[in-house]
Amino acid sequence: MPTWIPENSRDLYGLDRWGNGYFDLNKEGEVTVKLRDQETGKEVPISLPKVIEGMTERGWAMPLNLRFRDLLDRRIEHLNGAFQKAIASAGYQGKYRGVYPIKVNQQQQVVEEISEFGKKFNYGLECGSKPELLAALAYQHNPDALIICNGYKDTEFIDLALRATQMGLHVILVLEMPSELPSIIDRSKALGIRPELGIRFRLSTKSEGHWADSGGDRSVFGLNTGQVIDTIDILKENDFLDTLKLFHFHQGSQLPNIRSIREAVSEASRVYVSLVQEGAPMGFLDLGGGLAVDYDGSSSSGPSSANYSLDEYAADLIETVQETCDQAQVAHPTIVTESGRAIVAYYSVLVFNILDVTTFHVPDAPESPSPDSHPMLLNIADVVARVSPQTLNECFNDSLFYRDKIRALFTLGTINLRDRALGEKLYWHIMTLIANHLREQDHIPEDLTQIDENLTDFYYANLSVFQSLPDAWAIGQLFPIMPLHRHHEEPTRPAIIADITCDCDGKIDKFIDRDSTRNHLPLHPFNPEEGKPYYLGAFLTGAYQETLGDLHNLLGDPNVVSVSIENGELSLTHEVEGDTVADVLTYVEYNPKDLEARFRRFAEASVKAGRITAAQRKETMQAFRETLNGYTYYED
Ligand SMILES: *Cc1c(COP(=O)(O)O)cnc(C)c1O
Repeated sequence: MPTWIPENSRDLYGLDRWGNGYFDLNKEGEVTVKLRDQETGKEVPISLPKVIEGMTERGWAMPLNLRFRDLLDRRIEHLNGAFQKAIASAGYQGKYRGVYPIKVNQQQQVVEEISEFGKKFNYGLECGSKPELLAALAYQHNPDALIICNGYKDTEFIDLALRATQMGLHVILVLEMPSELPSIIDRSKALGIRPELGIRFRLSTKSEGHWADSGGDRSVFGLNTGQVIDTIDILKENDFLDTLKLFHFHQGSQLPNIRSIREAVSEASRVYVSLVQEGAPMGFLDLGGGLAVDYDGSSSSGPSSANYSLDEYAADLIETVQETCDQAQVAHPTIVTESGRAIVAYYSVLVFNILDVTTFHVPDAPESPSPDSHPMLLNIADVVARVSPQTLNECFNDSLFYRDKIRALFTLGTINLRDRALGEKLYWHIMTLIANHLREQDHIPEDLTQIDENLTDFYYANLSVFQSLPDAWAIGQLFPIMPLHRHHEEPTRPAIIADITCDCDGKIDKFIDRDSTRNHLPLHPFNPEEGKPYYLGAFLTGAYQETLGDLHNLLGDPNVVSVSIENGELSLTHEVEGDTVADVLTYVEYNPKDLEARFRRFAEASVKAGRITAAQRKETMQAFRETLNGYTYYED
C-alpha cells in the first residue's frame, strides 16, 4: 500500500496556494496545467512531463521554457472581469481601461497575444522607451485602447507619438520630468498635432515590499506638487490646458499590502480632483502597476505574497476613487491600471533536469579502519556504536572533535588522504545516525539544530539562475519550485538546488513554505542508474525573468515552446531555439569564424609537430564546430 499519494505532494509544495487553479496533479502523480481548448473553450489538464517527453522526442534539450498563451488570456479576462464587477456593484460611473506595461515581458508573442485577445476589453499597452513604443505602434491599432507613454522622451519619441495620435491611435504622453513639456509643446506646434498629455506624480505615500523606494517623496520618477502646479501654469500660458487628460502614479512593483495601496490611491484621487478643479479636462486616472502575485501562496503582506485578491484590489480602487470624486462633485474618471506582473507571471514555467547530486547523508556504515590505524581514526570509529537517544550530544561533540583532529593530522603529514577520507565518511555516518534519532524526538538540543541543514543534499540543476531566475539571485524573490512527476513517492531528500554556473551564488536555498520560508526543498532520491531523468519546474516565471537574465558563464537563453490545446489536440507552437554557443560568444564580441580559424591553425600545427594525425584533426575540428553550433546547457 503506498503511503504517499499525490494529495500529500499537493499540500507539501503548496500547489493550491500559489497555483490559482491553473496547476494541478493527476492520478499518475504528474503536474498538470489546465488549459482551455482554443476552439471549443473546454478545459483540459495537460501533463507537463508528457509535454517534455514530446519535446525531447523532437530533439529539444533542457532547460526549456514552457509558455501558455491561454493563461495570459485568462489573466486578462480575470483582471477586466474584476474591474467590471467592482464598477457594477459600486455604481461607478466611469470605465476601466487596463494597459499592459511591455517591459514586464517584451516577447513578441506576449505583446501580440495581449493586443489581439485584449481587443474585447479595449486593453492597451504601456511603453517606457522608443523600442517599446515601436512594438506598441506595430501591434496595437484599436483606437479605443490606450497607448501610454511613460519614460523619458526625446523629440524622436515625441514626434512618433504625435504622428500616431494623428492616425487615430489613443496615445497619451505622460510627463516624467518638467523639462519634457517645452519640447512637447514645440513639436506639437511644429507638426500641427495636438497631443494628449498625462502627468506622472510623485506620491508622498510610501509603499512596502522589495520596491518600496520607487514610491514616496524621494522616488526618482514623476513630478512633485510644485512641479505639477508649474506645469499647469505653463499649459495655461500656452493654451494647452485642454490637452491634459491623464494623471498617473506608479508606487512600485509587487505591492503586498492592500492598505498602503489604498492610501496611495486616496492621495492620487485628491490630486486628480484638484487638477479638474484647475480647469483641465482630465478623464483618466492611471493608478500604475504593483498588483502583486502570491508567489509563496501565503496570502500575507510578505514580499513574495499579497494580502488581497484581485477582486478585492479592483473593488478597493474603485471605491476609493469614487469616494473622493463624489465628495468633490467631480465626474468619475476612467480608471487605468498598468498591471504587468499579475498578467504575465503565470504564463511561463521553466523546466529543467537534475544532472547529479552530492549527498552528505551516509546511512550505511562505512568499512572499519584497520586495527593499526592512527588512534584518532579508531576513536571516531568507536563513536558509531555509541550513538543512542541518550548520547546524541556527546556523540556529536566527540565526532566533531575527532574529525578536526584527523584533518589537522593530515595537514601535518601524519595521516594519509585515504585515512582522512574514511574519517570524514565516518563523521557523516554519525551525523546521519544522530539526525535519524532527532526525527523521533520532540525536543532538539540547541547544538544539534543545524544537523539537518548540514545534511542537505546539493541537487545540480541544468539551468543558470542568473539567466532564468535572476530575481531569485538579485533580490531573494521566491518562486514555487517542485518536481514535475513521481508524486506517488515520498520526496525524502532535503535539497538545495545548485545551478551549472559554478558560481557560489548560482543556487537556490530559500523555498516557499506554508507560513514562512524553508532552507531546503524536499526532493525524490535521484537515481540516474535507472536511466530516468528527474524534472523540476520553477513556476510563475513569466514576469521580468526572461529579459532581466544575464549571460553569466555565457549560459544563454533556454529553448522555448508555446503549449496550447486546439480541437482536443496538444499543440506545440512557436518553438524558439535558445542561444547557441556561437550566439553567446558573439554577444561578447567574439567572431565564431575567427575562433574556428584560430583553433584550426593550432590543430594544423599539432599535425605538423606529429602530436595528432590529419584524421584526428578532422575529428577535433568537427567536435569544435558542433559545440559552437550547439546549446550552451548540458546536453545528453
Ligand atoms: C514596471 C512598471 C509597471 C508594472 O508594474 P507591475 O508591478 O509589474 O504591475 C507599471 N507601470 C510603470 C510605470 C512601471 O515602471
